[in-house]
Amino acid sequence: MSGERHEFQAETRQLLRLMIHSMYSNKEIFLRELISNASDAVDKLRFTAIQQPDLLGEDADLAIDLLIDKTAGTVTVRDNGIGMSRQEVIDNLGTIARSGTKQFLESLSGEARKDSTLIGQFGVGFYSAFIVADRVSVLTRRAGETTAFRWESDGEGSYTLEEAQKPGRGTDVVLHLRADEQEFLEPMRLQHIVRKYSDHIGLPVRLHKDEGEVETINRAAALWTRPKSEISDEDYQAFYTHLSHDPQAPLTWAHQKVEGNLSYTALLYIPATAPFDFWNRERKSGLQLYVKRVFIMDETADLLPPWLRFVRGLVDSDDLPLNVSRELLQNNRTVEKINSALVKRSLDLLDDLASHKPDDYAKFWQAFGAVLKEGIIDDGAQRERIARLCRFRSTHEADAARVSLADYVARMPAEQKAIYYITADTLAAAQASPHLEGYRSRGFEVLLLTDRVDEWLVMHLPEFDGKKLESCVSGAADLAPAIETPETARQDADFAPVLERLKKVLTGKIEKAQVSRRLVESPACLVAPDHGISRRLERIFREAGQPAPTTQPVLEINPSHPLLARIRDTANEAEFSDLAALLFDQAVLAEGGQLEDPAGFVKRLNSLILAGSAPKSSIIVPG
Ligand code: ADP
Repeated sequence: MSGERHEFQAETRQLLRLMIHSMYSNKEIFLRELISNASDAVDKLRFTAIQQPDLLGEDADLAIDLLIDKTAGTVTVRDNGIGMSRQEVIDNLGTIARSGTKQFLESLSGEARKDSTLIGQFGVGFYSAFIVADRVSVLTRRAGETTAFRWESDGEGSYTLEEAQKPGRGTDVVLHLRADEQEFLEPMRLQHIVRKYSDHIGLPVRLHKDEGEVETINRAAALWTRPKSEISDEDYQAFYTHLSHDPQAPLTWAHQKVEGNLSYTALLYIPATAPFDFWNRERKSGLQLYVKRVFIMDETADLLPPWLRFVRGLVDSDDLPLNVSRELLQNNRTVEKINSALVKRSLDLLDDLASHKPDDYAKFWQAFGAVLKEGIIDDGAQRERIARLCRFRSTHEADAARVSLADYVARMPAEQKAIYYITADTLAAAQASPHLEGYRSRGFEVLLLTDRVDEWLVMHLPEFDGKKLESCVSGAADLAPAIETPETARQDADFAPVLERLKKVLTGKIEKAQVSRRLVESPACLVAPDHGISRRLERIFREAGQPAPTTQPVLEINPSHPLLARIRDTANEAEFSDLAALLFDQAVLAEGGQLEDPAGFVKRLNSLILAGSAPKSSIIVPG
């Protein structure tokens, strides 16, 4: 190799070595990656030429060429796209400065090592050339410039860069195939790979055969511009891979052509899993935007609301100007109309998946349910539709979120008045909550809500199908009205003085005490007062360092529990006050809260045990 020598950035070297070994089982994808880069380069040229039409020059016949040289043992992927300047070559081919690099390296451990489909997801597509080549030479000339550059590397830690001659703009990637990769010199082999992965690219891919014969080997029409009837599922899936770099096949998709006042084509895909950086706050999302078949931008946030940010795909509009910018898209009437049409179409797609492929819908929900729920909070107009699409765990089905509100309502016994739910940090905490006891024993199903967003969801979804949603831990959802009997009236009277005494000794900790109808086994629990926000939401605010309205909870007691009989009959004020503190503290523990004075709790508990006077099993310390 001649020319100026540069070392690869350390990570690049490591990555190259890992890749060559791990991607070997699916080595043919190198061609998909290089064609995809070539196609992007042509898209960039088209886009730039909107402002500078002379960049196209006389070479306006945009295409990708594959050249085979059997004598030299090389395959060349040639494009007449935007090309690269010297600095761009260094930045793009000499460093992997993308944030995804580290995750890619990490993901290559274990099983993932064999998963060649990961490639490209992290922006390492070009380097896949080294899977089949022991030397790669890139000759490139930036559109509008006269000097070309040659980059060359054996993938072993350094590359060379020198000035070179090239008649026109664009890039040649020359692969010097390894001795055992000569199969890629066969035109039929290349043709097969291109058909498999790159048929949908909107550019002709031309294969130059030995005899000087040139043949376009793909369809060369952008997939979404073709009639739906001619597009197979495999075509849609291959296009999805190209567009999303997602190794998994999509769950479903919609191809929508709209003509009339508004003219656009949309291709929407629902992925099966979230990309590795999906939960990163800085992550950009959004559809690709094309205007009259010209690629304009990635990650066009304005085409869909944030709560549909998992949808992948593109929009090709006939109504927007070619020179549209991100700023112009905001508050643009056309974009708003497309946005609201796409919201409906996306929800149709999900409805359809939910009713016809419930298992696939479950996968979707597992990956993105928490995002879709945001729609209930953000978009009042779609609240009802989204609520129908929500799936929850419940006391009826706890191992997976499969319960729809419609299922729930259909199962409600006649005497059940509301849809009950409990929010908690974990499923175990929700299930163990004493608040559920009375609902369980009456055969009332309770939704177990553990996503953070659920706290807001329930605030924005006061009812469904005419049934109120009520929290099991709020005072308002007491079961009392359903079960008043002479026995309960007697208990109320019996415990009225105890309630007063509890309120007095627990001043500052509780708003009041009341007799509970929801407890069966536990002696006591805490509920939010009717007017307050949920106790868990209070905690979320506090943990986030935000001012939370500190309301005092209501202490509910179980009059049938032996501990309460003991408390009722305790005349000694000091002992009563200890027992009351114990009762309160265990209710705090049971809802997963922190004790203000854990040492005091332990001390009181021990003295009670040592006193030996407590009837067995009267104090239940939750785990
Ligand atoms: P990715 O395509 O995911 O960004 P690659 O490693 O495949 O990652 O390519 C790195 C960069 O090199 C590309 O983003 C692009 O800027 C540049 N590049 C690669 N191939 C070409 C090409 N044929 N023409 C112009 N630029 C290219």
